[in-house]
Amino acid sequence: MENHLSNDSHNIIRCREVTARYGRVVALDGVTVDIPCGSLTAVAGPNGAGKSTLLKAILGWLRLAHGEIRIGDAHPQHVLPRLAYLPQRQTVDWDFPITVREVVEQGRYPALRVGRRLGRSDHERVDRALEELALPPLANRQIRMLSGGQQQRVFLARALAQGADIFLLDEPFNGLDRFATEELTHILLGWKAQGRTVLAAIHDIELAKRHFEIGVLLATRLIAAGPVGDALSEPNLEAAFLGSHCTHGDGLNLVRTAQFPT
Ligand code: ADP
Ligand code: MG
Repeated sequence: MENHLSNDSHNIIRCREVTARYGRVVALDGVTVDIPCGSLTAVAGPNGAGKSTLLKAILGWLRLAHGEIRIGDAHPQHVLPRLAYLPQRQTVDWDFPITVREVVEQGRYPALRVGRRLGRSDHERVDRALEELALPPLANRQIRMLSGGQQQRVFLARALAQGADIFLLDEPFNGLDRFATEELTHILLGWKAQGRTVLAAIHDIELAKRHFEIGVLLATRLIAAGPVGDALSEPNLEAAFLGSHCTHGDGLNLVRTAQFPT
């Protein structure tokens, strides 16, 4: 992995007053949060809270209605190779005939010049990614033949093959059984130990509290952000899930501009 982590300002995902709309729907409203790289961050909140939208905004895919996002000092679109995205599983077409290795090779396409094929160093990266996720025995299988947990590993391998160090995962635990959940947790903890950054939209609050360090709680607005136990505290969860964020009840531990130690 390239070392992107040598200087501190390089090392933070900064969202400033981020407002994102789909037509008239406000999906994110004035979200300001700093997310340190090299950490596991859980993005929580009810359905429609803007979790997926925040991930897409950080990927530079949305034109923001207001505010800005910086990865280090750069606009997301200037550091695309650093950013890898794992879509929600429901959005992927599983009937398409494609092997595990071919999916992982897709991770190299963005780096290729038009019309070029994968070279030796591309194949080496693909092999390393397959190995890191224990996929060589499955490399020639059709992806649709795999279990949910195995499929998830394939998409993580594609992200690794890309050479990214910041991973934006949309509900990666959804639909996984207990074994696959533990396996994925283990992989993500290993990534963190290597200085990689994981930002995952997560449904399961207990899981987030157990394994993630930082919590970002959304309900269109930022309800709280900080160490996961604080951010996802009961009062904050109530505010997010019962909609009382709209009235800003007193006594809630709202942290609007979160700063974290790096
Ligand atoms: P979450 O991932 O937390 O469930 P989303 O970011 O997907 O929330 O959605 C936030 C809000 O934006 C919701 O009200 C949702 O209906 C709306 N939304 C998301 N994507 C689109 C889209 N492509 N077109 C219109 N509205 C959208
Ligand atoms: Mg979503």
